[in-house]
Amino acid sequence: MQYFAFQWHITDECDQRCKHCYIFAEGHALLVSMTWENMQLVVQKCVEFCKKFNRLPYFYITGGDPILHPNFWQLLELLKQKEIPFTLMGNPFHLTEEVCRKLRSFGCEKYQMSIDGMEKTHDWFRKPGSFQTTLEKVACLKKAEITSIIMTTVSGTNIDEIPGVVDTVVKTGVDVYAFARYVPTSDGKSNEKSDWYISPERYREFLATMDKKFKEYEKEGCETYFNRKDHLWTLYQYENGEFKIPDNAEKGTIYGGCNCGNCHFTISSNGDLMACRRVSNSIVGNIIKDDIKDVWLNQMESYRNYEKFSKCSKCELLAWCRGCPAVAAGSHGGNFYSEDPQCWKKLEEESC
Ligand code: SF4
Ligand code: SF4
Repeated sequence: MQYFAFQWHITDECDQRCKHCYIFAEGHALLVSMTWENMQLVVQKCVEFCKKFNRLPYFYITGGDPILHPNFWQLLELLKQKEIPFTLMGNPFHLTEEVCRKLRSFGCEKYQMSIDGMEKTHDWFRKPGSFQTTLEKVACLKKAEITSIIMTTVSGTNIDEIPGVVDTVVKTGVDVYAFARYVPTSDGKSNEKSDWYISPERYREFLATMDKKFKEYEKEGCETYFNRKDHLWTLYQYENGEFKIPDNAEKGTIYGGCNCGNCHFTISSNGDLMACRRVSNSIVGNIIKDDIKDVWLNQMESYRNYEKFSKCSKCELLAWCRGCPAVAAGSHGGNFYSEDPQCWKKLEEESC
């Protein structure tokens, strides 16, 4: 049976104040943590929802730093009882050998942390000492047989350091490495003159560099798996022949790309249901007050109007890519269906 993924932010509490974090970028006056009563309700509602659609629930539990939630261990106990698998996405600071062993015993499969540049840059983004602590904790996770994942948020401020980050994570023995693009959350950061901006050509060049590097490491049989997560990889691989549109593809069917409206819900610390956490205006309901099935079948429909994508709707890769609508929305006044600012595909050349 297929999984249905819930990215669940149980708390906004965090030891870091990352410069690109959407929690603090959106100017939260109050850091919210979900009550234990509501957490139990969330689990119950997600299980019931999945039953109706013949799916299995999978939780990506995050924050803030989820481990800082006062009922964190109680939640893990509940998930264990219900045999629900989960991944944690959090900080390195509270991981010890004992904590990692305990996480594993409750069923934690993977733990994701962030590295956002080489030491100086990363520590500037997050906090002094964060870079070294993150790398040190990889061994802790591996010892407990939890898959370690390192994720990078790429923007114009750190893009040139990412090849060095890859060398570092491979040397450290990280199990999975991936990157996603920064979503501009405040005025001016999507502007072409901003340090945060990446032009489409520069981004394509970056993917070419990363592809070469990943392939070299893969050839050597390195233990890190490189997850080509950004959907613009599909465009890159389409152009170099590694991705082909299947002959039996049916018109109107969505085969891959952005998960919004397909097999994913984000649950915020206040219970808001969102199409994607990175799309700040994508609230479609509230899990505490609403029936998730109704929200999924009705309100979520507004994220499935594929013909509304201003550029992708005219592209033959629509069913497999759609770039990242969160990055598009962050760059174009919140418009989910606007053009991905890093997509380099020129459509007019192909239409004749
Ligand atoms: S136009 Fe859209 S679907 Fe086509 S390559 Fe660009 S982002 Fe992907
Ligand atoms: S909007 Fe972007 S981050 Fe969100 S699910 Fe879609 S591709 Fe992923």
